[in-house]
Amino acid sequence: MKLKGLEKFNSLVESFANLPTIGKKTALRLAFHLCMNEPLEGMKLAHNIENALRFIRPCEQCGALSENELCEICTDLERQRSLLCITQSPKDVLVIEESQSYNGLYFILNELDENTIQRLRKMIQNMGVKELIFALTHSLNSDAMIFFIEEKLKDLNLKLSKIAQGIPNGVNLENVDFISLRQALIFRTHID
Ligand SMILES: [Zn+2]
Repeated sequence: MKLKGLEKFNSLVESFANLPTIGKKTALRLAFHLCMNEPLEGMKLAHNIENALRFIRPCEQCGALSENELCEICTDLERQRSLLCITQSPKDVLVIEESQSYNGLYFILNELDENTIQRLRKMIQNMGVKELIFALTHSLNSDAMIFFIEEKLKDLNLKLSKIAQGIPNGVNLENVDFISLRQALIFRTHID
């Protein structure tokens, strides 16, 4: 549905509708709400989006969301630097942090190429990491990834583990409840 003579309004509706999980109806409702009921809230939203897009970037060491060269987690001296949790997306870091069941470091493994492996190796050495915990969505692909890293980093003599099988096959971490996630981290299994 396009309203004639309301191109700016239509573009706003379209922008909302292009977001994940937002349907056409919700998009229309949000646009209407901001334009007619909460223009100040709308300005704030626009400002926050612009700021986030300008200043949020991947941490140069671990790849998690950051507002600086290095993220809060990498620079936090209170965290257990011997533990490094490997996830597939920066979103998984937010999920695990929210579950409050882990106090080590992270590394985002979005691509399995030499460059990423070199970054991982450098981080392990710089931070004194002793154990890698794989928190990947279980699939054949994830087993292959673990095997590949195991081979590449053999010389570092790391302890390798993966989160317990409480997480169903193919299910993203963000869809797992905190209790299951906590259990999966505590009862992580050693990989030999
Ligand atoms: Zn970081």
